[in-house]
Amino acid sequence: MSSFDPAVLDRLRAAAQEAAARAYAPYSKFYVGAALLFDDGSVVTGCNVENVSYGLTSCAERNALFRAISERGPEPKIVAIAVANAAGAPCPPCGACRQVMSEFVAAGAVVTFPGEHGWETISFARIFPSSFHFVPETR
Ligand SMILES: [Zn+2]
Repeated sequence: MSSFDPAVLDRLRAAAQEAAARAYAPYSKFYVGAALLFDDGSVVTGCNVENVSYGLTSCAERNALFRAISERGPEPKIVAIAVANAAGAPCPPCGACRQVMSEFVAAGAVVTFPGEHGWETISFARIFPSSFHFVPETR
């Protein structure tokens, strides 16, 4: 469910698909792209970057977010996230990316990704309802 203009989400998905073409995934051959739409209207993309050690691989979603913050700081906030892959396989964001993005999403943000039966678009709050938050002890 989304109140977003379908054309906006289509353009965001296309940007994610273009980013997937730049992925470095020689080991898994799973080429993923992400496109983040921010509340100022800007879009920042990222792709997955693998490493021969496997554990150092970084997802497209986090690479897009880190790129955005590196270029202009932690504002603006994300209002929509698109994830795509060259294979058209189901590919919702992984748990690590959901946790990282949770600190930078605006209220009402949505995530769109290839699901089992075509594109799915759901709210970020629904896909990740309980993020980890550090609460300092206050005795
Ligand atoms: Zn991830």
